[in-house]
Amino acid sequence: MPSVETVAGPIEASELGETLIHEHLMSRDEAVLVQFPQMGTVREDPIGGVTSEAAEDVAAEFMAAAAERGVKTVVEPSCMFLGRDVRLMKRVSEKTGIQIVACTGIYTYDHLPIALVSRDADQIAELFVHDIEQGIQGTEIKAAFLKCAADEPGVNENVEKVHRAVARASLRTGVPIMAHSRPASDTAPRQIEIFAEEGVDLEKVQIAHCGDSPDADYVESLIEKGVWAGLDRYGIEMYQPFDQRIAVHLALLERGYGDRIFVSADSCATLDWFPAETVEQLAGGGAVSDWTIKIVHDKVLPALREGGMTEEQEHTMLYKNPARWLTGEPL
Ligand SMILES: [Zn+2]
Repeated sequence: MPSVETVAGPIEASELGETLIHEHLMSRDEAVLVQFPQMGTVREDPIGGVTSEAAEDVAAEFMAAAAERGVKTVVEPSCMFLGRDVRLMKRVSEKTGIQIVACTGIYTYDHLPIALVSRDADQIAELFVHDIEQGIQGTEIKAAFLKCAADEPGVNENVEKVHRAVARASLRTGVPIMAHSRPASDTAPRQIEIFAEEGVDLEKVQIAHCGDSPDADYVESLIEKGVWAGLDRYGIEMYQPFDQRIAVHLALLERGYGDRIFVSADSCATLDWFPAETVEQLAGGGAVSDWTIKIVHDKVLPALREGGMTEEQEHTMLYKNPARWLTGEPL
């Protein structure tokens, strides 16, 4: 039986149980956090005075809510520039019983610090391999997957370098890749092309945020290249309204892609990206409370069941697909 690294150590794939593939315990820029801690984050205190203790309490509250709904494992794609803190993840896992799967990588649409501009893809890959084989941030907690991103600026020089570094670290260690994409900018085909050029088996690649596309044909065209597709932003109404997300999701299930897709919310227990009012817009005009880890069980699964999703399809998306993407082997 293949195993998966969690923040509490390795577990057997069969122990993953019901798994949400894309939820953040905390999402914030580490430089802003250190230099301007008075700025605060949404859902704690948007004006200021935020302590990491407060952020940890909110993260624990959200994970406890997921556990109450039957979730056993949360895959946490926070890497560099998203405030990854594996010690916090471990404490929250201990408090709530939720198994948390951590990653390594760099979340950037363009910018890299000079320290990484001056290093090549192989040298950056070395940093990722360390996190996978030795441990993250001076701990023995190991990364179970790699993360990179492309967004509105497209696959520019720095983004391409990070993708190649991620690909090389995957080839050396065997761990899978999650790539943030932006369907509105059609980033995914080039992202996939880079992984293929580097020799990565596309079965290991998950393209995140495919559910931001209103077009099931678009998502299908990516899956047909051999990758997994994340329908993972339920609750972010500004990028795609709920009903449209459900329609694309149901169309993909009807076309037989239940074994190639994931369902999640990309929720952030706390988030420093925007002033509070902007997050309200993202969540659809004030319904910030909807864009949380709870939405999958409270709204998404009931809507999909109503639309004809079978029990088997639901089980496949929440149990089998995460295990297969993480380990490369069927459950
Ligand atoms: Zn995310």
